[in-house]
This record gives sequence, C-alpha cells and structure tokens, in this order.
Amino acid sequence: MSALEDIVRAPDGRLKTECAPIEAIDERIKRLARRMLDDMYAADGCGLAAPQLGELVQMVVIDVDYSGPSGKNPYVLINPKIVVADGEERETGEGCLSFPGITVPVRRPSHVVVQALNLDGDLMQYEARDNLMAVCLQHEIDHIHGVTMVDHLSAGQRIAAMRAYQEATAAGARPGDVSVD
Ligand code: ZN
Repeated sequence: MSALEDIVRAPDGRLKTECAPIEAIDERIKRLARRMLDDMYAADGCGLAAPQLGELVQMVVIDVDYSGPSGKNPYVLINPKIVVADGEERETGEGCLSFPGITVPVRRPSHVVVQALNLDGDLMQYEARDNLMAVCLQHEIDHIHGVTMVDHLSAGQRIAAMRAYQEATAAGARPGDVSVD
C-alpha cells in the first residue's frame, strides 16, 4: 500500500473518534511513529495524526521546516496536551491530508504551549506563536480528539467546504493536494 492510500480520508468515523492515551512506548508505537513520518513526508504534509492512519491512539507527528533550507526537523508528540492557548485569534487557510483538494479558513488562538512525551518517554514542552507551528499543533491535536478543520467552520462555510471536497474527490484529488483550480 502506498503512503497516499494509507491515509484515511473523510468522511470516516475514525476521524471523529476520541483516541486513547498511549500507555507504553513499545515497538508497536515506535513503528507507528516511523510510518506516520514516512507517510507525512510522502504526502508533503506538515503534520499527521495517528487516526489519519486508522490508529486510534494519541500520537501526532509534525515537521513544519522540512521543505525549507534546514532539512527535516520532525517532532513526535505522544499524549500531547495544549496547556495554554491564547493570544489574538488568527485566520489561516488550512489543508488536511484527510481532505485532499481543499483549503479552508480556520480561526485559532495565535499562541500555544503544548506538553507531550517524546519517543524516549521524556516530557517535552513546545511553545509556538504566530506561525505555522502554532496552527499545526492545534490542527493535529484536534485530530486525536475526533475534531477536524471543518468542525471549526460556520454551518454555511462547512457546506461549501464539503461541496468543494466532493468536487475535488471526483476530480481525483490525492492527499497533499490543497486546492483545485
Ligand atoms: Zn488534518
């Protein structure tokens, strides 16, 4: 199965499910982290959550820098929790590997602090303000609680987004495609 076929696409109940905290960082979890990173890079995404691969556990991977000059800079966050979300709200055009072909305007707090375990079991803290990392952290952590980007839209925006998504799907959009001409 290719990485792009591996990714769960909406609508799918697994994208609306509260995921279970990870109790032990064992080989299964380490393998899943590698598969998530491989699929994220293959799809040109900046983040991926475990339920997007059909695994209903609280793990997300993020790399907001990999396309830049700094090379790959992956983060693996296990049982991540947003401990602060404040600052002026900002609207960003967001895409999602589970909604190929669309970009939607989502408003979120501009500053977040997140605590999570890394693959070594160390408790890490991440802080981001006014950047893609701040958006990506919130977007991916939403996924492990069964929330997707379209859930942040007004009813009217959501109807328009789902119509655009259906059209993009019919036109053959694949994970990583963020808009269709
Ligand atoms: Zn997503």
